[in-house]
Amino acid sequence: MFATFEDITQKPMIKVHKLTFNPFQENTYILSDETQEAVIIDPGCYERSEQAYLSAYLDKNGLKPVKLVNTHCHIDHVLGNYYVAETYNLPLGIHRNDLATLQAIPNYAHVYGFDGYQLSPEPAFFLEENELLEFGHSSLQIIFGPGHAPGHVAFFSAADKFVINGDILFQGSFGRVDLPGGSFDVLKKTILEKMFGLPDDTIVYCGHGAETTIGQEKKTNPIRYMEM
Ligand SMILES: [Zn+2]
Ligand SMILES: [Zn+2]
Repeated sequence: MFATFEDITQKPMIKVHKLTFNPFQENTYILSDETQEAVIIDPGCYERSEQAYLSAYLDKNGLKPVKLVNTHCHIDHVLGNYYVAETYNLPLGIHRNDLATLQAIPNYAHVYGFDGYQLSPEPAFFLEENELLEFGHSSLQIIFGPGHAPGHVAFFSAADKFVINGDILFQGSFGRVDLPGGSFDVLKKTILEKMFGLPDDTIVYCGHGAETTIGQEKKTNPIRYMEM
């Protein structure tokens, strides 16, 4: 078969794959492109079976992970950091303002029943606002979006019209602000000034629950009308 004109001219796209792990039902994202390179965002895999499931997805699709990053460092988003970093020999990237969040985990992991928490490696690089998260032929813009956590970031693809937004926005809701370093006012500012500044047709991939769009949240999200 000859490739058609459409095949040749079709713009490569980032593939977004969502896996849901651990009792917090946290969404782990694997992004990949036509080079087969992949980035793993927020690996929440805790049980052996969950770790095997993540690896099976990579194997089945012939993907080569090149980076491990966290949108923020609450325990549900980093439970699989050790496994992913060790198994694939990957450097970890986080925002520097969430270093304390990451380092606090061993003090409270048992409170949530994660007695088998495998200590995350320390970050090998920091994610900086407006810099790019690059892999393969792809790049995503790093958005600094504190409020739910002090060093929270999101990853935005203007070309493919999506944002991996962790626990900033949820469908019809938003991340809690009562954990250490959280602030309602800061989160509201992040959402109104940064997230709602993205194009309306941007798909929002959330750290928990289903996807939404910026346009839908601008219309329906209650944070706009809330004060605390
Ligand atoms: Zn969180
Ligand atoms: Zn979370």
